[in-house]
Formats: sequence, structure tokens, C-alpha cells
Amino acid sequence: MALQSNDGEGKPPVTELPHSDMQALCQSDTIAALIFCLSVLALSGAHAPALPKGEPSPAFPKFVLLQKGSSPMKRRTFISLMSVMAAAGVLSLAGCSSNTSSSTASSTAASASASATAANKLETIQSNGKLVIALEGAWQPWSFHDESDTLVGYDVEVSRAIAEKLGLELQIDDMDFDAALLSVQQGKADIAMAGITVTDERMAVMSFSDSYATGIQSVIVPEGSDIASVDDLAGKKIGTQRGTTGYLYCSDDFGEDAVVAYDNGLTAVQALNNGQVDAVVIDNEPAKAYVESNPGLKILDTSYAEEDYAIGMAKGNTALLEAVNAALEELKADGTLQAIVDKYIKAE
Ligand code: GLN
Repeated sequence: MALQSNDGEGKPPVTELPHSDMQALCQSDTIAALIFCLSVLALSGAHAPALPKGEPSPAFPKFVLLQKGSSPMKRRTFISLMSVMAAAGVLSLAGCSSNTSSSTASSTAASASASATAANKLETIQSNGKLVIALEGAWQPWSFHDESDTLVGYDVEVSRAIAEKLGLELQIDDMDFDAALLSVQQGKADIAMAGITVTDERMAVMSFSDSYATGIQSVIVPEGSDIASVDDLAGKKIGTQRGTTGYLYCSDDFGEDAVVAYDNGLTAVQALNNGQVDAVVIDNEPAKAYVESNPGLKILDTSYAEEDYAIGMAKGNTALLEAVNAALEELKADGTLQAIVDKYIKAE
């Protein structure tokens, strides 16, 4: 099978892509960037209240089992233009502080124009012979480094299978979550796969494949915590990952001062262990992995939100979007996706 023949290849090359386009934008337009940052800071306090979203899930059927015993979940969306702009700004600002292979500051406008011009068209990708994926390699079980430091996981295998279907070699760029979002918007990576939740705000700045899985925002607390429900987070310090929906939901519901944004899930959980925060809001599968390896922590039975994960791409890259969706369909039909789910995602 295609995936198995690729499994033996070991860790794919990790290549640093040029940042020059966004750096040039940041350097040449410092004043505009400053004005933008200030306006985003002003807007970020002006989120409309989150409303339940009654729409059905995207057409692609779910095949990742939800946690048994989950309480009814709420879907969330921020619907005002103000919050769309603010959320896009948060993503851009997150890039300002990112210390990894991502670049420096950008504005939504810069990202949008970069998407339009830098989006690798399918023909260019094909002539290069490789598909570049941005993923978060510290995101167990979706993508993570195993004992031998090889990058493994659902995202890794599914993206290899997609690349193979498209007749391409896969190049993996491993980075923090917020950097992965920017990477496709800026055309540095062709696709991003990192448990990326489809939201209206993100759809304004990037395109998404059909949904390939469902995730849940979970709450991790120390055993013995007085936090027993999402509502109990009021008045507490909450750790999240920078640029994630967990961060956006918590800052919307409990105020930005209550929420601390960490580089990744591990540093958020370390802060919880050290008592710097009272809870961590994070996606359910990584939450399970963290609780397993950190005795004294537990996941609340109640869930914060249910979400759909999809593969992110630059906006306007329609041919690539269609090719990725067709590959996903085939991989679903031939059982490959389910086999990868069974390998990495434990049904309860
Ligand atoms: N699902 C969350 C989001 O899209 C978090 C993803 C992640 O941290 N990799 O914001």
C-alpha cells in the first residue's frame, strides 16, 4: 500500500522557506503595520457575543469517533465583521511574536495579497514535484516525534498519502500552530494540517478542504480543582495555545486578561503543573496525551466546543483545493483514512 511504502523513508526533509516577502512588507511599511496593530488591539476587545451555530457540519462525513459520554456541545462562531477583522488580526499579531520558522509581522491585507500572488498554483506544485505541508510536530497524536525522533502521526501519514495520490513528494515544515496558519496564507507552504478548526474568521483569509475529522475543545485541570464546568472558568487564569480557537473562545468569554497564550500545548500544560494557570483549554486528543503523561491532571467531562478540522490552503488556490478534496475522497473510499485513524486515534 502506498502509505506503507512511504513509511520506510524516515523523516522527510524539513526545509526553511524564504521569509523575504513578508519581512519586506513588515520593514517597508512599519507605520502602517503599527497602525494596524493598534487598531487590532482596539478591536480585539470588541468581539460580538459568541452565538450558537446551527448549521450542519460540512458534507464530508465524520469518521473520528467523538469521546463517549461527552455532554451536548455548543458550536461557536463570531459573526460580526469586527470580530472577523479582530480574529484575523490576532493571527497576524501572533505571527509578530512567533519565534520559530515563521516570519515576522504581517497585516491581514498583506496576508490576503500574499495569498493571491504567492499561492502556489497546482501546475507550479506539479512542476516542482513536491507538496509542502506546514504542520505542528508537537501535537500528539496528529503529528509528533516518536521515541526515535521521527515525525509520525495522522497528519503526517494522511498528507503523505495525499501527496502520493497527486504524484508528488512530500516536504514537511514543522512549526508552531500559528506559524502554520500564516505559512499557507503567505504561500510558503501549499497546505497546512494541524487540527485546524474551520471558522468563519479563518475562511476570510484562507481556504479549507472538506473536513476530515472532528475535534473538541477540552478543559484540563489539576485533580481536586474546584473547576468542574466551563462556567467555572470565570475568574480563573486559563492557559491556551497562541492563535487557537481555545484562545479565541476563552478570551471572548472570560476576557483577554484571563487568558495566557503559550507557544504550544506542552508549555501551557507545564504552566498548569507549575500553578501559573488554573486550567488549560486545548483540543481533546492532545489533551488526552498530556493527561496520560502528567499524573495529577484530568480532563473535565464537559466540553467547551465541537469543531471540524480541515486542511488549510491559500485562498484562491482552487485547483489545489479540488485535487486535495478528490484525494481525500479516494483515501476515504479505499479505507486508508480509517486505517490511519485506527492507528493513531484511540476510540474510547
Ligand atoms: N483546533 C484548534 C484550532 O484550530 C487548535 C489546533 C492546534 O493547536 N494545532 O485553533
